[in-house]
Amino acid sequence: MKIRKITAWRVELPLHEGNYKWSGGKSVTVFDSTVVKVETACGRVGWGEVCPLGPAYLPAYAAGVRAGLAELGPHLLGCDPRELDKLNRRMDAVLKGHPYVKSAVDMACWDLLGQWANTPLCELLGGRYGADITLYRAISQESPAEMAAKVAGYRAEGYRRFQLKVGGDAVEDIARIKAVSQQLQPGDRLDADANTGWRLHDAMRVVRGVADVDVYIEQPCATYEECLSIRRQTTHPFVLDEVVDSLDVILRGRADLAMDMVNIKISKFGGLTRARQARDLCASLGIAMIVEDSWGGDIVTAAIAHLAHSTPTEMLFAATDFNSYVTRTIAEGAPHRQQGRLAAGTEPGLGVCPLESGFGPPALVIE
Ligand code: MG
Repeated sequence: MKIRKITAWRVELPLHEGNYKWSGGKSVTVFDSTVVKVETACGRVGWGEVCPLGPAYLPAYAAGVRAGLAELGPHLLGCDPRELDKLNRRMDAVLKGHPYVKSAVDMACWDLLGQWANTPLCELLGGRYGADITLYRAISQESPAEMAAKVAGYRAEGYRRFQLKVGGDAVEDIARIKAVSQQLQPGDRLDADANTGWRLHDAMRVVRGVADVDVYIEQPCATYEECLSIRRQTTHPFVLDEVVDSLDVILRGRADLAMDMVNIKISKFGGLTRARQARDLCASLGIAMIVEDSWGGDIVTAAIAHLAHSTPTEMLFAATDFNSYVTRTIAEGAPHRQQGRLAAGTEPGLGVCPLESGFGPPALVIE
């Protein structure tokens, strides 16, 4: 099997809530996603998607995906999409860094492998654990009262895990965490994600201010060292996200006991191949995980579902169903949440049928 053609489209994904806000006043109103189609000489088709959380979250931006694909794509023609490790080595050899650019190509090649093997991806990624997986709901940064109301609403829809977007003013963030904690019922879990937004002194004020609340603290500060400093002075369960983008960081974090949990985002690692390596390493080390991506629509949601559903249940804190946050359907066959839970599809590969005719003219065609 050989790659013959790579096509990419820019696809806009508006939000049901109108916008999404997190630390430092950052927000997105309409997500700019890139859908990638990889076609083989034998006529098979695989699909991938990548959607940065705007240009100011990770070192990734939407136009950069397309620019990077124009650079990368010609070097992949003729490669066998089923040989995922060889393909990733090839991508790294011809384009240094830029893991997010490679993510959708890698995802589409996994889709091709699964279709060729006539097997759903979660079975190829390690096996399906249980009937479904737990989701968390991200709560966009608003006033304490508004965030508490959102949690109550999403709780009524079946979610039991909530990730609060904090990383703002320390006093207001303490109020946010306390207001939301009042909404929780036994069995619920609360994660306060500062998305690198606190200085050390403010992070210290917040963790001390919520010392009596059962809450996880996620990525309080910008650097690994700053986060480690906070970690060593709080007893809250501790999550690292933005700084965890390689196996090296996971091993360093294990050696330092720097975290209890990490956030595995598919595109942060450069696709399913590398995210799976990170997932398997964490599972082996006993480090729990949130399995997701930076953002996306139906195709990313399907990929998350396959990676998360093939993660040992006790190691998976939660996954994310981005297709329920956005107003636009870009593929049929993607999984949809049921009472705050999600199940990977049972069709071969990713199991999605993108609505290609609605994408308009492609941004990029390489053949
Ligand atoms: Mg996070």
